[in-house]
Amino acid sequence: MSFSHLGLSDKVLGAIDAAGYKTPTPIQEQAIPHVLARRDVLGIAQTGTGKTAAFVLPMLTMLEKGRARARMPRTLILEPTRELAAQVEEQFDKYGKNHKLNVALIIGGVSFGDQDTKLVRGVDVLIATPGRLLDHSERGRLLLSGVELLIIDEADRMLDMGFIPDIERIGKLVPFTRQTLFFTATMPPEIQRIADNFLHNPVRVEVSKPATAAATITQGQVSVGREGHEKRDTLRRLIRNADNFKNAIIFCNRKREVALLHKSLVSHGFNAVALHGDLDQSARTAALEAFRSGNAKLLIASDVAARGLDIPAVSHVFNFDVPHHPDDYVHRIGRTGRAGLTGTAISLVAPIDAKSVQAIEKLMNMTIPFMGEPPKAESTAETPEAAAGEPRANRRPAGERSSEREGGRTRGGRNRGGRGERGPRNDQSQPVAAQAPAEQSPVQPRAEQSQPAREQPRHPRQEQPRRQPDKAPVRASQPQPKREPQAEESDGSHLPAFLLRPVTIKA
Ligand code: AMP
Repeated sequence: MSFSHLGLSDKVLGAIDAAGYKTPTPIQEQAIPHVLARRDVLGIAQTGTGKTAAFVLPMLTMLEKGRARARMPRTLILEPTRELAAQVEEQFDKYGKNHKLNVALIIGGVSFGDQDTKLVRGVDVLIATPGRLLDHSERGRLLLSGVELLIIDEADRMLDMGFIPDIERIGKLVPFTRQTLFFTATMPPEIQRIADNFLHNPVRVEVSKPATAAATITQGQVSVGREGHEKRDTLRRLIRNADNFKNAIIFCNRKREVALLHKSLVSHGFNAVALHGDLDQSARTAALEAFRSGNAKLLIASDVAARGLDIPAVSHVFNFDVPHHPDDYVHRIGRTGRAGLTGTAISLVAPIDAKSVQAIEKLMNMTIPFMGEPPKAESTAETPEAAAGEPRANRRPAGERSSEREGGRTRGGRNRGGRGERGPRNDQSQPVAAQAPAEQSPVQPRAEQSQPAREQPRHPRQEQPRRQPDKAPVRASQPQPKREPQAEESDGSHLPAFLLRPVTIKA
């Protein structure tokens, strides 16, 4: 099947050709003809399936006829996060280069004035996050009564982030007769209800999930202790000693942990950027760009901030925290091992995470092998609260829980996804340190250092012979002598000079 059979315009086909795409992906092949036939579409597809082009390409074709009026966008795309909205805009730039369409982005964190100027000029495609869109609409700066096509993207993410009430309000502002395309990666009952509300006689297009636990992903778990600095220490060793390292995403469960870990890794000279909901828009964009371009080798992220983003395949995923929802684990590790490339996913597992790991293993129908020592029997008990049978979600003060969540809404939105976390317990196993190939290091010379990097003293470990890649991501270890607690910063002195250079991104 080629793109030319889908009914797309010559201009769009030219842009596809220029992009170098030869064949449509399954979601594109199945959805595009229906979109062009003005049918409502329910698309069940994850990011990475080419779903964005599945609506952008036919939209471009359809928008070639007609023109926009001031403050009355012709089409509206709703995205849960600013980054996703910006990504969709990029796709319009890419595929719409032969068109003269006005595309506007209405997202939080950007001045109202500039957005308003664009709306006055008339907009063919409005890409928006729900909150900011409603703000414009409530100020009378935007009329949605001219919308011919509505796209709700990442609907299940909208649900997680508490946007459904906003989406329902927006649904009342667009004409009943508009066409609707509705994309979601999963279909929980609440999403089914919204889909039933929004869609009229839709065509259902479902593309299979990427295989869970793709054969190309080597997974492992490393037993870690309770203290944050111990976990961070273990993580640094894992990164330094990773085989075939190119770049990595490190997932934390809470945005505060993302910020903390980012600061710590940068202070240890790692070339790391962070992505979480408390960062302003420019910091998020800069972080993503640094990671995409390869300037930063480590991206520390929360699930909410990273979900759905088009981040190129990474060689490694580290779960600094084990996710509490097994689905999140599948999403996280799916960031590596894409398109036939090999990848490694390593989870730092504290005794308190045992139940979460069990749930993950059950979902994936596999056992995640321990790298190094498995936890000691006596240390696998959970905290006293857990042992007493207290539900996990109740184990932190409510105020702390809500302030730590990502994606919270200030207006009318529900906040789901608060998942209680506690610090892990201690145990002593550590992965064996082994030499990582120098050219694959995630860290680079620190720019602000006055000495040229190569003149800095090298750590003796560099002189050791390189280890041969082996099947397990980290060789099984002998029990290591327990390190004396020490200031984290002392670890920086073990970094060879060429390993030093963080990209400075505001945390
Ligand atoms: P998405 O699922 O929309 O996030 O797209 C994932 C990636 O696939 C994006 O980087 C697209 O540029 C790319 N892509 C989309 N369609 C195709 C195609 N037909 N052939 C090759 N790559 C594609």
